[in-house]
Amino acid sequence: MKSNEEYIESFRRMVQQPTVTDSGHEFFEAFHKVLEEEFPHVFETCERIELGRDVLLFKWKGKSDQKAVVLMAHQDVVPAVGGDWKYEPYSATVEDGVIYGRGTMDCKNTLFSTIQAVDELIEEGFVPEHDVYLSYSDCEENSGPGAEMARDWFKAHGVRPNVVIDEGGAILRKLDKFMVKDAAAVGILEKGYADVKLIARGEGGHSSQPPKRTPIARLGQLIAYCEKHTVFKPKMSKAAKAMIKGLANVLKPGLRGLAKCVANLGCITARLAPKINDHYGKPMFETTMVFTMCEGATAPNVIPQEAWVNANLRFAPTDSSEKCIAKLRKIAKKFDVEVEVVKCREASPMADLTGDGYKQFADAIRKACPGVEPVPYLMFGGTDCRTMQEIATTAIRCTPCRLSFKQLGGMHASNECVDAASVVECVGFFKTFLKDYQ
Ligand SMILES: [Zn+2]
Repeated sequence: MKSNEEYIESFRRMVQQPTVTDSGHEFFEAFHKVLEEEFPHVFETCERIELGRDVLLFKWKGKSDQKAVVLMAHQDVVPAVGGDWKYEPYSATVEDGVIYGRGTMDCKNTLFSTIQAVDELIEEGFVPEHDVYLSYSDCEENSGPGAEMARDWFKAHGVRPNVVIDEGGAILRKLDKFMVKDAAAVGILEKGYADVKLIARGEGGHSSQPPKRTPIARLGQLIAYCEKHTVFKPKMSKAAKAMIKGLANVLKPGLRGLAKCVANLGCITARLAPKINDHYGKPMFETTMVFTMCEGATAPNVIPQEAWVNANLRFAPTDSSEKCIAKLRKIAKKFDVEVEVVKCREASPMADLTGDGYKQFADAIRKACPGVEPVPYLMFGGTDCRTMQEIATTAIRCTPCRLSFKQLGGMHASNECVDAASVVECVGFFKTFLKDYQ
């Protein structure tokens, strides 16, 4: 068995491998070598299923194949260029019990705690009640096919997992002013996603004799219109309601009633929240849209014949992509702009909070992480977990690793870091979950 210090050394070795998405096979090969050295029981005992690319899928045989568990994470990280890093991003420097480095919280902590838990349980001679799979994509950060390759294997082999657990929410340290407990944000749903190209066309020509309503001007008017108006109406979804009600349980007694009231006010809350706080309030209750890319002419003195902007949409669970895009089309028409859907998926279904998968996950949190209350969480961003949704009974997006609000800001940014003690606790959580799982 590894000591806590040895846990941290294993984890540091993983962070020291710069497995940037699509950086090259050699980086992932080196990473796999580290995994093989650090988690020998997994490599010796589990069946390694070859899927291609650098995707890793392991099967740990249980007493039954009825209620399989899939523990997911991704091996790849976003680049660590730019920004003001305190330490070299792949040094995994430890300072005052905090480990700094790219991937420490997104999400080599998830990968480490799941594989370490399995490795240790194998060493202890434990045999799981049901089959356990470890599924680690190599290309989550650019929405690559890794997780789908694993999903297709499950489908082809008739495996319908009971619970799938992936990265997503974390344990948020309590804000003393408002909370009595730390809250584990358990992702129960992720919003839908679309990239929509808005294209304006015109005659083009020399910039010295400009006409009115050129493509870029019309796109500008359309963007300004969308920013000024509430294009997609805010609504209270089941997931948002569950989240507010769950949060009530970690608030100071005086605030609990207020939170429950806010949840029950439904549409009124949904309408007011984005006005009070558009950073959280808007994505929580609305389909959001933001303009992320644009292109016009190829020279500074040319009026483009065609210009485009990309609108990135995140669909609320209460909205269908079809209705939202139809609405956008109607607005775009006013400005003589065409709409082309590049990529589109609906919001995921919500995990059943009364189902046995969610319950067992929540119980393990209460048992393994003292002072922590699980709270359902509506995820604004996406994870690989959605790929498994169609074949799994329950999909949960959470790594119970304690993070401060400041640490959360390190996601995809400089000075990404995680507390060493939290990484250790996380291994304990996955061991508890797997041992108790029925
Ligand atoms: Zn991630």
